[in-house]
Amino acid sequence: MRTLSDLGALQGKTVLLRADLNVPLKDGKITDDGRVRAALGTINELRESGAKIVVISHLGRPAGKVVDGLSLTPVAQRLTELLEVDVRFVADTVGQQAQEAVAELTEGDVLVLENLRFNAAETSKNAQERAEFAAQLAALADVFVLDGFGVVHREQASVTDVARLLPAAAGRLVATEVEMLKKLIDEPERPYIVVLGGSKVSDKLGVIDRLLDSVDTLLIGGGMVFTFLKAKGYDVAASLLESDQLDTVREYLSRAAEKGVEIVLPSDIVVAQRFAADSPFAVVSSAKIAESKFGDNGIGLDIGPESARDFAERIVAAKTVFWNGPMGVFEMPAFSLGTKTVAQALTKVQGVAVVGGGDSAAAVREFGFSDADFTHISTGGGASLEFLEGKKLPGLEEIA
Ligand code: ADP
Ligand code: MG
Repeated sequence: MRTLSDLGALQGKTVLLRADLNVPLKDGKITDDGRVRAALGTINELRESGAKIVVISHLGRPAGKVVDGLSLTPVAQRLTELLEVDVRFVADTVGQQAQEAVAELTEGDVLVLENLRFNAAETSKNAQERAEFAAQLAALADVFVLDGFGVVHREQASVTDVARLLPAAAGRLVATEVEMLKKLIDEPERPYIVVLGGSKVSDKLGVIDRLLDSVDTLLIGGGMVFTFLKAKGYDVAASLLESDQLDTVREYLSRAAEKGVEIVLPSDIVVAQRFAADSPFAVVSSAKIAESKFGDNGIGLDIGPESARDFAERIVAAKTVFWNGPMGVFEMPAFSLGTKTVAQALTKVQGVAVVGGGDSAAAVREFGFSDADFTHISTGGGASLEFLEGKKLPGLEEIA
């Protein structure tokens, strides 16, 4: 993979930097600036080399239209605070205003352009449309740096198309992400445990398929666990269930048994009366979810305390751990214990402990852990899973 050093001297050159500054916002305020902080390393390195930096990113899903609440203005503001330099901002992505602002840059300056996805061409399925937009972006700069790991698995104008038009390389963040995730693929130290949770089994099936060839143990929690429990013949009452995946899950369970991979399901579950933060709840055995006091209406919203302890003990004893997907509905305090316990356990691993996934990363920060408590917190959920699946990621292919 080409990196910054492959781009030669950058002094006086204009660098188009594709970052992933897709931060969560609430009432116009950034609630987790992790992705902005993650971009600082590359920006600082480029500034030190005397480059003029034009930062591009998407934010949310404006679907090709200008949406006031999804402007990158607060992100540019946050960058100004974190870099302690006056970061400029233009309410335009390509076009005259953007061109003029770029022309005014001097060495070490940083300019943020408006949300890429205000332009429908950015994510268009039509290659011609994407290429035309990419050509306008490319015209702004001399070289391209891909540093948004959260988008490297996407075929999009600012990711793949523009990389074909300019000398291109990975930024420091993408290089680090790839290096960290490779540790999980190339001869991981054993025991190697993967913890999977989150809401949709179908999102994570591909990775389970592949992981059965490499892990020693799979710990399963979150909403996806009920499809596994159901596959084992348990009644999961009103819990999240993907019936169309039951056969696939049964096949994984039997393949795991053949290969000697342990798939550990929680022994107890926190069952709630309703999907609500203030709902009454009860802890029951996983085999008896439908026999809780809420009967067939009961919804499993977290792994139980006994399971959380069991998962934590296994995690702490591992040498390599990858975790994607919360163990329960951590956004509601009553159902956050499983996720918190797993996060805590990862901080104690004597070896490699990697967290991947937007919600999982948000959860660990919300619980008060810092990035330094883990080997690595991946900024890309989908991208990190696809990487572990062994898929070719289009953005990385362009800078290979
Ligand atoms: P990540 O972003 O880390 O990859 P996902 O997006 O797959 O994770 O899943 C996160 C979501 O899963 C959270 O919003 C959480 O509330 C939800 N979730 C976890 N456990 C359950 C459950 N038992 N029932 C319903 N939703 C759940
Ligand atoms: Mg998510």
